[in-house]
Amino acid sequence: MTATVTTEDARRSVAEFVRGRAADLDLGRTDIRADIAEIGGRGLLTGGLGGSDIREIAGTIERVAAESLAAGFSLWAQRMALEYVWRAPEPVRERHLDELASGRRVGVTAMAAALKHLAGLGELPLHADAAGSDRVTGPIAWASNVFEDALIVFPFRGNDGRGHVGVVSADAEGVGIRPAPELLALCATASTSLTFEHVEVRGDQLVTADLRAFCATIRPVFLLLQTAFCTGVADTSVRAAGDRLDGLGAQFRDEYRALAERHASARGRLREYTSDAHATGPADLLRLRLDAARIAVDATRLEVTLRGGAGYARHCDTNRRFREAAFLPVQSPSEGQLRWELSQYD
Ligand SMILES: Cc1cc2nc3c(=O)[nH]c(=O)nc-3n(C[C@H](O)[C@H](O)[C@H](O)COP(=O)(O)OP(=O)(O)OC[C@H]3O[C@@H](n4cnc5c(N)ncnc54)[C@H](O)[C@@H]3O)c2cc1C
Repeated sequence: MTATVTTEDARRSVAEFVRGRAADLDLGRTDIRADIAEIGGRGLLTGGLGGSDIREIAGTIERVAAESLAAGFSLWAQRMALEYVWRAPEPVRERHLDELASGRRVGVTAMAAALKHLAGLGELPLHADAAGSDRVTGPIAWASNVFEDALIVFPFRGNDGRGHVGVVSADAEGVGIRPAPELLALCATASTSLTFEHVEVRGDQLVTADLRAFCATIRPVFLLLQTAFCTGVADTSVRAAGDRLDGLGAQFRDEYRALAERHASARGRLREYTSDAHATGPADLLRLRLDAARIAVDATRLEVTLRGGAGYARHCDTNRRFREAAFLPVQSPSEGQLRWELSQYD
């Protein structure tokens, strides 16, 4: 009988691969490109691409983040870049879809500014130069996966005053990449800031000329796949905390039980919503994304508390998860933005 390689087999192999690299990723001895290539090479980047049933990719992101949030976060960014390109007109798809889907090329999603702008919390920092010009100028405050050969997907204000989305190569003329700052964690994700100075964005580099409609379509996928890396890192910490509830650890049993319930609830909602991402209401998506980030922060904190002094040593998985999860409240949409947006539904 011929063995069939199932998604679950492929996921298991990828999880092992990332597990073996998690410490080196954390210590900056390597970066996430090999992980993205491994995941793409096993055909795991494309499940449900462009559709509403995103359970497969959500499950993969969750599993990878359970081993390394750096890899899980970069995988989310890769998949989002792929989602944008999948929804782009033919010239962009033809040039970039395969290289992103296979993981041979890394994708950057510089879309935080767009989601903030559409929530009414600021202007688009990138803008077309002058009437009739196809050049774009301005800053990108933060983006991840910024390797020299990456493909950047970015929002900008066009000549018509409306929001657009374009793609450009990170090594294109006029794209300036600042040296990556030293971070608390996630150094392997090549997260840094960029500047565009009169960067050419031709018609065949345009993903959309209607930012609002485009973001309405990608937003559920964006938020749910972010939720997946939150529940992934939380899962490992909840399990690790659950193994340390004896002795003095017994003092934390109530706290652990409450946390495990919140985690199970978030995972249950994630499973339900990812089966039809576009059928879920905006408030439910925001609430789940906020809950999942907070659970991850609480779970990594409880794990580090129960682990004792060993957890305070930098080269320890518990410590790594604690530092990695500290990013989640500031990741766009930040905890502040999520709370604010949710308050609009009260
Ligand atoms: C390691 C790392 C990797 C990242 N990767 C990516 C990526 O791949 N793609 C991407 O798009 N982004 C990325 N980001 C950006 C991230 O997702 C957030 O957008 C960013 O961290 C938000 O922080 P900020 O510094 O822009 O703070 P701001 O959002 O500017 O907030 C700073 C403070 O100002 C307040 N504030 C902000 N706006 C308002 C307002 N309108 N009115 C009143 N108060 C306000 C906030 O509450 C907060 O207290 C990354 C950031 C980091 C740190």
